[in-house]
Amino acid sequence: MAKNTNKCSFCGRDKQDTNMLIAGIDAHICDNCIEQAQAIVKEEQTLKNKTAIPKTKLPKPSEIKDHLDQYVIGQDEAKRVLSVAVYNHYKRINQVNNTTDKDDIEIDKSNIIMVGETGTGKTLLARTIAKFLHVPFCIADATVLTEAGYVGEDVESVLVRLLQVADYNVAAVENGIVFIDELDKIARKSDNPSITRDVSGEGVQQALLKLLEGAVINVPPQGGRKHPEQKMIQINTQNILFICGGAFDGINKKISSRLQTNSIGYGNSKKGDDIDKDNILQYIAPQDLKSFGLIPELIGRLPVLTFLNPLDRDTLKRILTEPRNSLTKQYIKLFKIDNIDLTVEDDVIELIVDKAIEFKLGARGLRSICEAILMDAMFEMPSNSKLTEFNITKKYAEEKLQKTNISKLSAE
Ligand code: ADP
Repeated sequence: MAKNTNKCSFCGRDKQDTNMLIAGIDAHICDNCIEQAQAIVKEEQTLKNKTAIPKTKLPKPSEIKDHLDQYVIGQDEAKRVLSVAVYNHYKRINQVNNTTDKDDIEIDKSNIIMVGETGTGKTLLARTIAKFLHVPFCIADATVLTEAGYVGEDVESVLVRLLQVADYNVAAVENGIVFIDELDKIARKSDNPSITRDVSGEGVQQALLKLLEGAVINVPPQGGRKHPEQKMIQINTQNILFICGGAFDGINKKISSRLQTNSIGYGNSKKGDDIDKDNILQYIAPQDLKSFGLIPELIGRLPVLTFLNPLDRDTLKRILTEPRNSLTKQYIKLFKIDNIDLTVEDDVIELIVDKAIEFKLGARGLRSICEAILMDAMFEMPSNSKLTEFNITKKYAEEKLQKTNISKLSAE
C-alpha cells in the first residue's frame, strides 16, 4: 500500500497544516497529536499512581523494620511497634477496598502515639516510614492549632499541608501519613475542665477527634480561614494514618507513682525492685496519658502507644557514623564533590559527642557542632584546586570549636 508521506497518520492533517510532522517506520505523527498523546499518557499514569499506593506490594513488618534500621539508630521497641501498626493499617485499607471480602469483620484504625524526649527520632521514624511506602507525609505542630474560630490554625490546616505535599492528588492524600508533633502541648491545662474555655488545649483535642477517627472533612485548598467563595476539597480521613509524638515532660513521675501504687496492690505484675528506674518511660500506659491531660476520647483514638529511649553516649556516636545518610557520610560526600577525600579521626567523633552531651544538645546538636568544625574548611577548600585530601584531627576540631560561640550551637 502506498503510504502518504505528507499526512499525519493519526489525525489525517496535511503536512502544511501542522508545525511539524515526524516520520516513523510506517506512519507519521504531527506535533498536535504528540501533545494529545502525551496528555493521555500523563493522565493514565496519574490514575495508576492513585490506585498504586502500597496496595501492590505491602512490605512485611520485618522489612519495614529492616528499612528503619538503616536510618534510625536504636529505638528497637518503637520500630517494631510502628512496623506492625503501619503494616496492619495498610492491610486494613486493602481490606476496605477489597470488595470481594464480604465478611462483617472491620479492622479498626491503628493511629499511633510515640512518647519520648525531643530529638530522639520520633519525626525521623515517621518520615522514614512514609518515604519507604511512597505515601504523602506531612508534619503538623499541635501547638499552632486552636479550636475552630479562634486565633491560630484550625485542625483542617493539617490536611491542607498534606494536599500540598501530594500535589492536590486527593486519592493519594487519603492514604497518607500525618505526623502531629508536640501533642503533649495540647494537654488539658487544669483538672477542672470548665473554669474557662481551653481553646488551645482541650478544645483542640476535641477538634482532633473527628480527624483521627475518620470523617469527611471540608478543606480549603489554599489554607487560611474558611472563605465563602473558596471551593472546598473533601477529604476522607478514614485511611489517613496519624502518628502523634510528644515529649510529655514530667510524665515519668506519673508513671512512677502508678507503678508504686500498683506494686502495693494485690496481684501486681511489676514488683518495685524489678523497675528499671533509669528508663521509666518504657512502662508507659494509656492511663498515664490521661493523668497528663489527654482526654480519654483522644487516647482511645490513638490505640498504639510506644516510647523512645533517651539517647546515650554510644547511641549518639552511632548516629554520627552509622545511618545510611549519617552526618559524617554527608560531609564526606560534600567534600568529594570538590574532589577532596575527607577523613575524620575517631577521637574527633568522641569530641563531637562529648560536646553534644556537655551542652545538652542531643542528636540535633551534632550537626551544629560539625558545621562549626568544618565551616572554615568548607569555605577555603573549594578554591584550593591542588588539595585532594583533608584529615580532621582532634586538635583541629578543638581549635575550630574554641572559635565558635557555643550558644550558637544550640538545637535548631
Ligand atoms: P523528635 O521528633 O523526637 O524531636 P527528630 O526525629 O526530629 O526528633 O530528630 C532530630 C534529628 O536527630 C534527626 O533529624 C536525626 O538527624 C537525629 N536523630 C535523632 N534520633 C535519632 C536516631 N535514633 N537515629 C538516627 N538519627 C537520630
